[in-house]
Amino acid sequence: MLRNRSIFLLSLGCSKNTVDSEKLISQAEKNGLHFVEHADDADIVIINTCGFIADAKTESIDEILAAAEKRKQGEITALYVMGCLSALYARELRAELPEVDRFFGTSDMEEIIAMLGGTLSPQHLHERTLLTPPHYAWLKIAEGCSRTCSFCAIPKMRGKYTSEPVETLVKEARSLREKGVKELNVIAQDISYYGYDLNGSSQLNDLLQQLSDLDFHWIRLLYAYPQNFPLEVIDTMRERQNICNYLDIPIQHINDRILASMKRGISKDETIRLLESIRDRNPDIRLRTTMITGYPGETRAEFEELLEFVRDFRFDRLGCFPYSHEEHTSVYATLEDNVEKEKKQERVREIMELQEGISRDNNKQLERQTIEVLIDEADGQTAYCRTQYDAPEVDNECILNMGEADLKPGDFCIAMIEDSTAYELYGTVLVPRNH
Ligand code: SF4
Repeated sequence: MLRNRSIFLLSLGCSKNTVDSEKLISQAEKNGLHFVEHADDADIVIINTCGFIADAKTESIDEILAAAEKRKQGEITALYVMGCLSALYARELRAELPEVDRFFGTSDMEEIIAMLGGTLSPQHLHERTLLTPPHYAWLKIAEGCSRTCSFCAIPKMRGKYTSEPVETLVKEARSLREKGVKELNVIAQDISYYGYDLNGSSQLNDLLQQLSDLDFHWIRLLYAYPQNFPLEVIDTMRERQNICNYLDIPIQHINDRILASMKRGISKDETIRLLESIRDRNPDIRLRTTMITGYPGETRAEFEELLEFVRDFRFDRLGCFPYSHEEHTSVYATLEDNVEKEKKQERVREIMELQEGISRDNNKQLERQTIEVLIDEADGQTAYCRTQYDAPEVDNECILNMGEADLKPGDFCIAMIEDSTAYELYGTVLVPRNH
């Protein structure tokens, strides 16, 4: 048993990886193992890697190489690598990095705990040691993905879609609430498919209603997939005070030829109909999406169709990424990565420039309005906050003068918005809000 050893876990990549890391740390701590916040204080280093796109792969490899150097110098006694990159490339990495003591995939928690000399305790699998600020947490409702998007290797890294049963998730959420979490962010690779693998029908609305019955102040939905999206969820969102009027729904593109080549399983018309019905059902909703530019064969005309759609539909929040030609994806073997890098970047710039104007206009509407915010950070009299329309780590920030108000991270308050830019709101705290 390695009880007297200190362990550092570096969690890279997405929020789903963060949840995996939090569960691993909690299980290890149940076995008396001790984690430290800095690699320099650790005997053992574990790296939870990301393998989504080239930049993420490079970051993961750089971190492994840095730790491998420490291992070679004897500064650490063991180095373990887990997660998506390891799931895809364990054989290649093993050959190139003998300093790594062992490689694990994305669902090897029991093996990792056993290797650390402990025993997995299934009755505590709903418990987590949070890596996020204590007032918000991610709730991962399913593992893997059963979609076949041509540009994505995640199904290869994380396996097919596996929903966590509703009762298990409610238990996990309750334990997070008891820990003091106030904002629950519901995530998966694709939340729209939740439940279909269990009984052939969507269970997302049922889950959402049960989560909403718990005393969270905010519950937020992220990573919805446009096809089979259960619209009844939008009605529940409108009816329930503690469900944020917010939905993250990546659509990636709008041109029919490209959507078909991407194997998104949905057409331009169906996408627009879905998004419009969502807005009709909940007029206060804020929609976030993600786009990809420079997909193989994307013509100027097809890109301009996307640009026009962004101009007309006016998403509230939008991220855009250049297409990345990734091994282990179906398009990698079938299409050439024939849009030059500069052209991809240029198209990202055009979309984000357009979106900046849209976001500026939207934020202007909030000036001289009062709005509820959650404080993420406080520095002197300045509070860095978010509204219900802003997810952690990706959306707008609201920067407030707290004056004499004695508020801290995790507190809610009502703010008066006095000024804004494309991605920030500025104002003053009016009244604290107890929760
Ligand atoms: S929905 Fe598509 S893009 Fe998202 S994880 Fe699944 S295959 Fe990848």
